[in-house]
Formats: sequence, C-alpha cells, structure tokens
Amino acid sequence: MAGLTSAAFLAKSGHSVLLLEKHEKVGGCVNSFQRDGYVFEGGIRAVENSGVLLPMLRQLDIEMELVKNDVSIGLGNEVITLRSIDSLADYQSLLAKSFPGDAGDIATIFSAIRKISGYMDVLYGIDNPLFLDMKKDRKYLVKVLLPWLFKYLMTIRKIERLKEPVRDYLDRISDNESLVDVIAQHFFRDTPAFFALGYLKIYLDYYYPRGGVQTLPDRLMNRISDLGGEARVKTEVKAVDPQLRQVSDQEGNTYAYKKLVWAADLKTLYRVLDVDSIEDRQTRANIIAKRKAMADKKGGESVFTLYLCVDLDREYFADIATEHLFYTPYSRGLLAAHRIETTSKEETAGSLKEYFRYNTYEIACPVLRDPDLAPAGKTGLIVSTLFDYAVAREIFDKGWYEKFKLLGENTIVDVLNETIYPGIKDRIVGQFSSTPLTLLREHGNSEGAITGWAFTNKEIPVETRLPRIANSVRTPVPDVFQAGQWVFSPAGLPVSILTGKLAADAVTRDL
Ligand SMILES: Cc1cc2nc3c(=O)[nH]c(=O)nc-3n(C[C@H](O)[C@H](O)[C@H](O)COP(=O)(O)OP(=O)(O)OC[C@H]3O[C@@H](n4cnc5c(N)ncnc54)[C@H](O)[C@@H]3O)c2cc1C
Repeated sequence: MAGLTSAAFLAKSGHSVLLLEKHEKVGGCVNSFQRDGYVFEGGIRAVENSGVLLPMLRQLDIEMELVKNDVSIGLGNEVITLRSIDSLADYQSLLAKSFPGDAGDIATIFSAIRKISGYMDVLYGIDNPLFLDMKKDRKYLVKVLLPWLFKYLMTIRKIERLKEPVRDYLDRISDNESLVDVIAQHFFRDTPAFFALGYLKIYLDYYYPRGGVQTLPDRLMNRISDLGGEARVKTEVKAVDPQLRQVSDQEGNTYAYKKLVWAADLKTLYRVLDVDSIEDRQTRANIIAKRKAMADKKGGESVFTLYLCVDLDREYFADIATEHLFYTPYSRGLLAAHRIETTSKEETAGSLKEYFRYNTYEIACPVLRDPDLAPAGKTGLIVSTLFDYAVAREIFDKGWYEKFKLLGENTIVDVLNETIYPGIKDRIVGQFSSTPLTLLREHGNSEGAITGWAFTNKEIPVETRLPRIANSVRTPVPDVFQAGQWVFSPAGLPVSILTGKLAADAVTRDL
C-alpha cells in the first residue's frame, strides 16, 4: 500500500513512475486469493479509515464500494458487537460476567479506555490534512483544521504519556492475571497502552472492499496506469547501486532512477544496497550506522492462520457474530502458555496445544460482507492467532513443520467446535493454514512481521513520534526515500498510506 500510494501520487504529479513488485500481484499484506471458489484474505482482514484511507481514495479519484465492517468481541458463550462508542458498555459487562469478582478493576480499565477513545477521536476525528488541497479548501483550513490542530497538539502530549506496554498498564490496575490476559492477548507483546486500548475505537472505523480487500490495491494500480505509471510484477529488486542510481532485478535487468522510494522490508534495503560504491565518506558512514542500528532489531509478531471451507450457510455464522470477530474461547487466558517450549517434540506439541486453546482468535467471514465470495450455501472462515516467527522457524528447522501446522489447525477446529460454532467440525470440506514463514516468503517482511518493528525491541530504529512522521521517509542514502510499515512505529495500514504519500511529496519537492 505504501508503494502503490507513492506511485499513484507521483504519477498524479506528472512524474514518470515505475513500480517494481516481487510478487505476481500488487498489494503485499493487503491481498485476497481464491481457493475452490472461496475468496480469502492472505493479510489484513478489513481496512480501517483512520481519517486516511477515504481521503486518499477521494484525492486520487478512485471509486470503490466499501461495505461497513462491524467488529464483534466474544468470550466463552457471549458475543457483543461494537456499533458505536456506547457499545463499550456491552464489552464491559461481558467481561464483568466472566470475572464477577473484578467489577471494580474492570470499571477502572474501561474508564481508561473511554478516555483514550476520546484521544483517538481527536487523532482521527478529521480527514488527515495531508490529503487535502489547501488552495481549494481555505474554509476548511480556518474553520476545521486550525481549531483541530490545537486539540491535536494537546492530545499528542497526553498520548506520549501512555506509551507503557499495555500489560504493565493493566497489571497496575488488576492482579487477576486471567482478566489482564483476556484483554491484552488481543495485541502484540509490549504494545503501547494508548495503541492497544485505543483500538476499540478504531474497530468502529473498519470497512471491507466489495470483492475482497484485493480490490483496494487493484484499484490503485488501475489508477496508476491511467495516470501513465507502469508496474512490473514478478520483479524482485536484488541490488541498489546508489552511485549509479540504478536497481537490478533477479534476472539482472537494470532500471535507472532519479529518485527511488523503497516501500518494502528495510533490512532488505540495507542488505541489497551497494554501500561501497558511494564515494562520499560521511554518507557511507551514515548508511553503515543505520544498517547497524537495524541489524539486531526484530520484526513484530506474526500470525498462524487457519482457512476453513465449511458446508454451512452464511446465516449459521450471521446468527452467532458479525463478519469480523475477536474471540477468546476460555476466560482462563493464556497465562503460562504465552511461552512455547521447544525442547522436545512432545513438549512442543503439548505447549502448542495450550497456546492455540487459550489464545484469542481473529475470525473473519468474507461471505458475510459480500455473498459472492463463496459457493452458494457455503462459507469460508479465516481464523488466526498471533504467532512468533522464531518458534515457527525452530519447528521448521527441526523437521516438524507439517505436523505443527496440522496440530494448530486441528486444535483450533476442536476449540471452535466445542465453543462458538457447535457442529462445525463435521461440516468442514476443506482446510489449510499459513504461518509466519508463509508471510515471510510471500511479502519478504523480516520475521513474517505484519506491522513492522516489534515493540519488544529495546530501541525502535525508526521514527516513533507522530508529529515528526514527515521525517520518517528520509534515508541517509542520496535520492533514496522510504515508506511503509517499517519506517514509522507503531504501524499498520494507515501509516503505510501516510508514509507513501509523504514520500511522494518529498520526492516531488526535491524534483
Ligand atoms: C494477517 C494480517 C492482519 C493485519 N491486520 C491489520 C489491521 O487490522 N489493521 C492494520 O492497520 N494493519 C493490519 N495489518 C498490517 C497491514 O496490512 C500492513 O501494515 C500494511 O498493509 C503494510 O503495507 P506496506 O506497503 O508497508 O508493506 P507490504 O504490504 O509488506 O508491501 C511490501 C511490498 O513489497 C514487495 N517486496 C518486498 N521485497 C521486495 C523486493 N526486494 N523487490 C520488489 N518487491 C518487493 C512485497 O511483495 C510487497 O508487495 C495486517 C497484516 C496482516 C498480514
């Protein structure tokens, strides 16, 4: 999305644009694929606006049908749907039912969530000014933007104080480890409190492109072509020569550039960059320092995903939850099962079962948003849990990979069958899964990370301050810019779009 956004805005500014993509289709983590007549998402399950996506589409004159995507939250036998900010009360009582002795702590947690939701209102409450044409929108500038800017600056300060990991934040409120787990295990390890607790507000702002999320990158690509831009798929950049200002692909083809926007994994950029070719000593030293700062930093958690083809009508699922459900089967929470032991095959199998059983699942049901996305009378389900790349890699190296995938798939099916979807097990007509290794292979993101750098890194090697996000697209390499989920933290779809636009603006200014 970062590369596509950059390319589209550069083409719109009249520049000659070439987009190189290693995969056979564009979109990266925003992609859909077909299996036996079922359409599934390979990455993000639905897209949030966050004051960024819709204004970007508008500014590029891209029309696309977006279906509202309602998010449900489930615990055990109870499911609630987030339809407005008032639905937080439903989530609060759902937790209070499962943890009747902790009503006071839960109230304190929800009062924090409401406060942070207010901050999110300010942050994403207006269309991001980056996508406005200030010359045309003078009235907007004076009446909306300037008053907002004042509130924004006040809010940013408050948010800066809530960067503590969400688990530590909740631990200070409650000593019930299960309660803390059931809330915090939705998020990556050490996710900052404001980002995790503010997400409930962001869930209200999710959409689904009709036809599948792939429609979004496809429409952007069409627009780039209309504007005269070009794309080459199945073209992997294998070398960047900053002195000659050219890149080479896997077949040795070379492409000259005036400006390069790197919109993929950042460690890869510094690996394929020919630093020695740079004549200026200081520039060389700056690049080497940057490469060193990233070398030992890790990508964030990835996911294990189970794909199910089910011989049940969509109505069966519509009666239970909405199209996008965050479901925790057991109120025990992960507790010690957070750690997966890999010393012996038996121990690994045992701890994996526990991990899959007590975790939280993100369950998406494409056919509930668009009836054309599965054969008549059938339903496709996408069920995922966060999963650590290092564990999947170790299992692969030990030769247990296929068994591990099957164990994960079957454990999740058993849990769904005994909890939220009774009888589903006998109606499954197809199943397969993907792991962090799949995501690494597909998109080339270090550790199969789905949103850039891990919050557990001692230092994040890129910009983390929202007011300074414009700096995030600069690199120490002359005429090379960067965009996407690796250039700012915390990241996700909106940051990829924002940094894509910022990189395009910086290039346009320079040219
Ligand atoms: C399962 C899942 C769920 C998610 N859920 C959410 C969510 O709910 N909310 C949210 O905000 N975000 C979510 N995300 C994250 C979000 O989708 C990504 O952060 C965002 O789409 C990343 O976009 P990007 O352009 O920065 O990078 P990518 O999508 O990784 O794109 C990089 C592109 O570069 C290509 N590439 C890589 N190396 C090379 C090379 N050497 N040469 C040529 N091409 C190359 C890749 O093939 C890819 O197409 C999720 C991601 C996943 C996988």
